[in-house]
Amino acid sequence: MAKKIGQKTKTPMPHVDPGVRRHSFGEVATGYSVELARQEAARCIECKNMPCVAGCPVEIDIPAFVRQVAAGDFDGAFQTLSAKNLLPAVCGRVCPQEDQCEKVCTLGVRFEPVAIGRLERFVADYAALMHLSDTAAPAAPSGRKVAIVGSGPAGLTAAADLAKLGHSVTIFEALHKAGGVLMYGIPEFRLPKTIVQGEIEKLTGLGVDIKTNHVIGRTFTIDELFSELGFDALFIGTGAGLPHFPSIPGVNLIGVFSANEYLTRSNLMKAYRFPEHDTPIVRGKNVAVIGGGNTAMDSVRTALRLGAEHAYLIYRRSRDEMPARAEEVEHAEEEGVEIVLLAAPTELLGNEKSRVRAMRCVRMALGEPDQSGRRSPVPIAGSEFEIAVDTVVFAVGQGANPLIRSTTPDLPVTKWGYIVADPETGATQKPGVFAGGDIVTGGATVISAMGAGRRAARAIDAYLHRLPAGGHAAADAFIST
Ligand SMILES: Cc1cc2nc3c(=O)[nH]c(=O)nc-3n(C[C@H](O)[C@H](O)[C@H](O)COP(=O)(O)OP(=O)(O)OC[C@H]3O[C@@H](n4cnc5c(N)ncnc54)[C@H](O)[C@@H]3O)c2cc1C
Ligand code: SF4
Repeated sequence: MAKKIGQKTKTPMPHVDPGVRRHSFGEVATGYSVELARQEAARCIECKNMPCVAGCPVEIDIPAFVRQVAAGDFDGAFQTLSAKNLLPAVCGRVCPQEDQCEKVCTLGVRFEPVAIGRLERFVADYAALMHLSDTAAPAAPSGRKVAIVGSGPAGLTAAADLAKLGHSVTIFEALHKAGGVLMYGIPEFRLPKTIVQGEIEKLTGLGVDIKTNHVIGRTFTIDELFSELGFDALFIGTGAGLPHFPSIPGVNLIGVFSANEYLTRSNLMKAYRFPEHDTPIVRGKNVAVIGGGNTAMDSVRTALRLGAEHAYLIYRRSRDEMPARAEEVEHAEEEGVEIVLLAAPTELLGNEKSRVRAMRCVRMALGEPDQSGRRSPVPIAGSEFEIAVDTVVFAVGQGANPLIRSTTPDLPVTKWGYIVADPETGATQKPGVFAGGDIVTGGATVISAMGAGRRAARAIDAYLHRLPAGGHAAADAFIST
């Protein structure tokens, strides 16, 4: 029988004051104490159907770990989480729980749902502080070799699951640090990089070899990973990091950036600490960021922290259609971001030195729903206006990098360049090659990429068990005879 309902609202998450944090790259949310975590966990009514479990893309036993937190068994809670999730400290911070486990929580039907994400973060941080580790023993070595291309959440999850199954796993990452968007995209104030690296160290503890500065398609092709390096199977999790720019006049002016470049400079290259770190970044006084997703929100909040007097977020639809997490929008506004809704840029204007000086925009009205189901923005004639800016950052979507598809002609891709893969197994039409995460779906979420990595790992394991004794090379020889 379900427990009685107690506290009806979530136990609030402590935060740094907005006036302080807008000048700091330190983390905004400071996390639950032991007392707050146990208070929040006690809200779970232990309902019979437990819909939260099905709401989690990696199927964490949420009722069990929440019950363990309520009982003060934090080590047990960490083991429950670790059985399904390699990156709990990351997911507890950035997963959109409001659209997943918390959205379907029974308590949420009448009151606020259990704050599952905050509890996940608490357990992961407690485990890091107390040096707890996953106690599950890996399987005996299988003698099979798997290459993972890309070290974002999809690749990291596939790598961990395959290593636990006894396979020898090597990750090839193009950048100088592993982690994908977790390292280069999401800023320090939402996801501290020491936390990401701490989670990645668990992989090296499992024996996974991480080779950074290895661009697949250049250092080795996909085919060479099989033929020259002797891998038996591959997982491609290269994400969707190719920036898009709109076709309006002025996008080539100085002071105009893609969010990808702007955030990578700041996060990965630590440009916000220039000259202590080598990479510089433009510290605009009047910065406009175009877009309404998490990437736009991260860019505009970064601009504030870099000293902008005005940090505008320009979004062509209304607040209801914004894809960014509601919590991040609230935080941005508290910090002083000026959100301009129902407006889109039509032209960027430069000065005599080809530096951007202003942005011309048009107001929008909402028309009929488009393919995404959201009402499409329609320009209002004669409503043009100008904003004085010295920096413009476009966060209007990203696509697939063409390098792997151009060097692997027998790997089918969609018309947008995403790899065609079975959603249940990640299997592509090229034998031994699996794919998952943003490179298959287009830009999505950390947890959906992790789910894809997990499903592909299961399918790769089954594939490896079917391979003849000589591995991929023998199978290839057999197919070509
Ligand atoms: C700024 C920003 C904020 C976001 N905020 C959130 C959020 O709050 N919550 C959320 O759930 N999601 C968020 N997302 C989305 C989420 O981060 C992605 O959906 C997720 O990271 C996709 O994971 P992935 O493993 O598929 O790819 P990625 O994380 O993109 O990782 C791909 C990796 O592959 C590497 N790579 C690419 N090509 C090659 C190659 N040829 N050879 C070797 N390596 C290669 C890249 O360098 C990268 O490290 C955000 C995205 C961005 C950009
Ligand atoms: S759905 Fe909510 S109340 Fe039910 S078990 Fe899950 S967290 Fe507890």
